Amino acid sequence: MAPTLTQPWWPRALGLTRPALDHYHRGLVNPATGIADTDPALPFGCAAGLLVASGRGGTWEVELDGQRLRCRLRDSVRDDFDPLGRLVVGDRVVVRPGSEPGRGAIEARLPRRSQVGRGRGEKAPTLIAANIDQLVIVLSARMPEFTLHTLDRYLTIAAAAEVEPLVVLNKSDLDDGTVQAEVEAVYPALGYRILRTSVTAGLGIESFAAALAGCISAVVGPSGAGKSSLLNAIDPSYRLRIGQVMAMGKGRHTTTGSRLLRLDCGGWVADTPGIKTLGLVETDLEPMALQHLFPELDALFGTCRFANCTHRSEPDCAVSRGVAAGRIAPSRHASYQRLFDELEAARRR
Ligand code: GDP
Ligand code: ZN
Repeated sequence: MAPTLTQPWWPRALGLTRPALDHYHRGLVNPATGIADTDPALPFGCAAGLLVASGRGGTWEVELDGQRLRCRLRDSVRDDFDPLGRLVVGDRVVVRPGSEPGRGAIEARLPRRSQVGRGRGEKAPTLIAANIDQLVIVLSARMPEFTLHTLDRYLTIAAAAEVEPLVVLNKSDLDDGTVQAEVEAVYPALGYRILRTSVTAGLGIESFAAALAGCISAVVGPSGAGKSSLLNAIDPSYRLRIGQVMAMGKGRHTTTGSRLLRLDCGGWVADTPGIKTLGLVETDLEPMALQHLFPELDALFGTCRFANCTHRSEPDCAVSRGVAAGRIAPSRHASYQRLFDELEAARRR
C-alpha cells in the first residue's frame, strides 16, 4: 500500500494548502530557478532515479531501473546545488546515463514529497532524508517499558516532518494484553495504523514486511525496542550489511554518510545517523502549531473561549472540556502539555 499524505491536520501546520502541494508534486524543479516546471516530461535521453547514497568525493549513487549508477552533478548545475546541503538520500533525480557503463550525471532534482531535517532558528535545516513515505515507530511492550508519552512524542515528530506514521508494538510476547489494550483504546480511532509484532514468537512479521514493501521508510524508536531485529526478520542480510558499513567507517571513511537500503520485500529503509536521534525540538515547531499535530485537538481548533488558547489551564477550553467528557484521552492531553512546555522552553533558550 502506498501511504498518502492526506492527514487532515498536517497542511495547516505547514501553512500549505493541498492545491499548492499538488502543483509542487507534479513537475520538475528547474535547478537554476527552483521553480517547478509542470510538464512531467523528462529531458531527452534522461531517466528518473532514486538517490540511495550520499556523495563521497562528489559522487552520488543513484538506483535506476534496478541498476546502480555512480553519478556526478552535471557541471552546469553544480553551482546551483549545494551538493551537501541540497541533495539528500531519497531525492528523486533526473539522470543522464554516461558513456561509461555504471556512470551518469545528475541533471536536476524532482520535487520532494517530504523532507526530514534538523535545524533551529535562522539556520537552514540540515536535511537527513527526502521523500520518506512513512516513519515506522517501533516500541516494545516491555524492555524497555512501553509508555504512551513516548508514542505521542514520536507521532508528533512524524507529523511535524509531514510523514505518515506506522506504529509497531513489538515484543508482544512479553505483553499480557495491557499495552495492547491501552493503545487500541485511543489510537486506531485517531486514524493511526498499528501493527503488533513479536520477533521471538514470529508474530506479525509478514504484515510488517507488507507494510514496508514498495515505499521508503525511516525506522525510529527507543534503543532495544527491536528495530534491527524486525528488519533482520524480514531481510536476513540487513544486519550484515549494516555491520559492513560500520566496519568500513573505522577505516579510511570516518563518516559513513546516509543511505537507503533495499529490503527483500522491495521497500527501502533509510539508514541515516540523524534519524534515530531526531528530537521534537529540532523540528523547529512553533509551540502554537503543536495542537494541529494532535488530530483530536486540531478538530477543536477555534472553539475555545480564547482564540490563542494553549489548552493548558485557560478557562472555558474546548480541549479540557473534551477530556472531562471522556472524548479526549487524558494521556494525550498530558502529552500535549508536556511537549508544549518543552517547545516553549526551547524557544527561550
Ligand atoms: P534495537 O536497538 O531497537 O535495534 O533493538 P534490537 O533489535 O537490537 O533488539 C534488542 C533486544 O530485544 C535483543 O536482545 C533482541 O533479541 C530482543 N528482541 C527483539 N525483538 C523481540 C521480541 O519480539 N520479543 C522479545 N522477547 N525480544 C525481542
Ligand atoms: Zn483551549
